[in-house]
Amino acid sequence: MMKEGAPWEANPTSRDRELTLQACGKINLCLDVVRRRPDGYHDIRGIFQSISLADEVTLRVTLGGRGIHLRCDHPGVPAGPTNLAWRAAQLLLDRLNGEAGVEIHIVKRIPIAAGLGGGSADAAATLIGLRKLLQLPISDGELARLGRELGADVPFCLRGGTALAEGIGDLLEDIPCTPAYAVLVLTPKLYVSTAEVFRAFDPGKVDRRPSVEGMKRHLEGSCLPGIAEEMVNVLETVTFPLHPQVAELAERMKRLACGAVMSGSGPSIIGLFADLDGAQRAMAALEGEDVFLWCGHPSPRGVREAT
Ligand code: ATP
Repeated sequence: MMKEGAPWEANPTSRDRELTLQACGKINLCLDVVRRRPDGYHDIRGIFQSISLADEVTLRVTLGGRGIHLRCDHPGVPAGPTNLAWRAAQLLLDRLNGEAGVEIHIVKRIPIAAGLGGGSADAAATLIGLRKLLQLPISDGELARLGRELGADVPFCLRGGTALAEGIGDLLEDIPCTPAYAVLVLTPKLYVSTAEVFRAFDPGKVDRRPSVEGMKRHLEGSCLPGIAEEMVNVLETVTFPLHPQVAELAERMKRLACGAVMSGSGPSIIGLFADLDGAQRAMAALEGEDVFLWCGHPSPRGVREAT
């Protein structure tokens, strides 16, 4: 039996096991669209980075219990089987022939439909957390394959850190680096459809493609001016004309930051700063705008156990 929005019990019994995880958001430092595939997806090439802006995902496994119960504090997030965390739990529970039930509680901190991979992060945290709680013998590679069934960004969210992404975003090469910069995220309060942006993408309208290899070198060498110079996202050619407000906010961010770029299909804009003080000053300068603002650091992990 699966119930939506069932009440969250405060005290787990001794037969229950519980774990709280931080599900980190992701930004892209650069993004190129390589080609439209016959299956309708697009091959991309870009650099993904986890950030410490994270949802909190609490999982409770009820041994002998049944079904999935999900609760989220954000009214815009589905509490049923279309939630990516629910689908992730279902994939793992299917292996147990109904011998366990799962309660999922999501505290949403990553803005939704913002180009920050929030749903994928919740799915990744659910996969990692349930593998541990249910003591399932699933390798990291197999978990990534399961994650890909849920969404192109889930394999990255499982690994986290800094990676060069190809394919639909699921072919990943870790980039060894220690990011020495702070991040400011600005998310305008408007809806951008990822599918619509990719559908409308026209390579003929792109006048500058990112140098992904160049960005990789600058990351490995911790060269912030070089990183800033390579911050290019070809999807800006679709989202900016559709939403001029996003283009204007990107211009403001560019004036305040070392480098700025749109994340994913938008509408979030990312600014990089030499330190957190600089990011906080820019955040204060943008505070009058009706936007979501967050500043912090890159994260070396996609999913972390809460301490
Ligand atoms: P994408 O580019 O894949 O759309 P995104 O990062 O821009 O990703 P998400 O925050 O993942 O956007 O949300 C996209 C949509 O997915 C939302 O509109 C929401 O209805 C649905 N969704 C499903 N599960 C979740 C979840 N756990 N958190 C947020 N949204 C979810």
